[in-house]
Amino acid sequence: MKVAVFKEGIPDERRVALVPDVVARWVKKGVTIAIEAGAGDRAGFNDDAYRAAGAEVTPDRSHLWQTADLVVAVTPPTHDEIGSMRSGAMIMGFLEPLDCPLRMQTLADRGVTALAMEFVPRSTRAQVADALSSQASAAGYKAVLLAAATLPKYFPMLTTAAGTIPPAKVLILGVGVAGLQAIATARRLGAVVEAFDIRPETRDDVQSLGARFVEMAIEEETSGQNGYAKAVSDNLQARIQATVAERAIGADVVITTAKIPGRRAPIMITAETVDQMKPGSVIVDLAAEQGGNCERSHPGHDIVTDNGVHILAPMHLANTVATHASLQYAKNCSALMDWLIQNGEANLNFDDDILSAVCVTHEGNVRNDRVRGLIATLNESQSSPESMVLVS
Ligand code: NAD
Repeated sequence: MKVAVFKEGIPDERRVALVPDVVARWVKKGVTIAIEAGAGDRAGFNDDAYRAAGAEVTPDRSHLWQTADLVVAVTPPTHDEIGSMRSGAMIMGFLEPLDCPLRMQTLADRGVTALAMEFVPRSTRAQVADALSSQASAAGYKAVLLAAATLPKYFPMLTTAAGTIPPAKVLILGVGVAGLQAIATARRLGAVVEAFDIRPETRDDVQSLGARFVEMAIEEETSGQNGYAKAVSDNLQARIQATVAERAIGADVVITTAKIPGRRAPIMITAETVDQMKPGSVIVDLAAEQGGNCERSHPGHDIVTDNGVHILAPMHLANTVATHASLQYAKNCSALMDWLIQNGEANLNFDDDILSAVCVTHEGNVRNDRVRGLIATLNESQSSPESMVLVS
């Protein structure tokens, strides 16, 4: 079996899907690992380290796409890359099945078996393969560092001969994996932190990290499946925005991480709230990839508003902690490969709940009901050809 790892095609993507330690483990098990030359450079893993681990390092990218049995990737393949894969080959990675369902159809049409890291279940057994969590944690950490570097103030309280500096006030919106890591990081830097989430069960986590939970009455069911949140009514979202506005106006830093899988991120901070925030205050919008939690965010860009509020809306922030994000991602993929590969060969056993959940396409079919539904909706809607072309 030949497993291939490529230099990620997305500009500025620094992560690599497998790191040398993980490669060595699979080579020992008799699997051939082929790495595109330079694939790990931007994450701090050079070609010599991969060779020492037993990998074949090759500059021939197109030959590698054509001959791979399993591609392990961080980001999704392009249309052309899918076209060059052989029927029966497999690909594992963040394939964006709910954001770009037509890419899944393209993979199925090509006969490629697609394993989406987004669909690793939130179960104890699957935790070791939970790449969404490992990457979200890196993003939550880095968001706080970006905010601290942008804020023209200290984070900790300082008592000096020149006076006492009060601690920065940080508000975290959305307390999933990224939000919890952001709370922990901001607390370590000495900030006073408060946090809000629509899932009331997050209160204990927030308090155990030494932060204050922002309370509000929530009458709807807000917790969905697998620990994720449900989309809420417009009325509740408007009340959330009002509660958030009260806290954001006094905050130095707001970090937003609120997401609903497969949907546009909810607006937590309205334009009016931004207008009332303090000059010099900082918003880091970690939901930028899903459209953003702040009405004024420009995904992928940093802006300063007329009233002096910095709004950072970075995409793929885990990629700025590329070495450790890659190490963790490689461990996640390797865990999935442990279930997938038996005696050096792929054995896609759908009785295994994890393999069944992650496998979106197989033998020409889209297996996942939700993805199939999205494809049907897209095909039915008379969308313009431009909106239908979701495969870059
Ligand atoms: P996510 O990235 O989908 O969303 C981030 C947070 O945004 C969530 O906590 C969600 O409740 C919140 N949110 C959504 N809409 C909101 C709104 N309108 N207002 C306020 N907050 C809103 O979530 P995630 O980081 O992937 O984690 C979701 C949950 O799953 C967490 O409780 C996490 O601890 C849990 N989890 C469990 C496992 C496991 O059991 N193996 C693994 C990972 C995560």
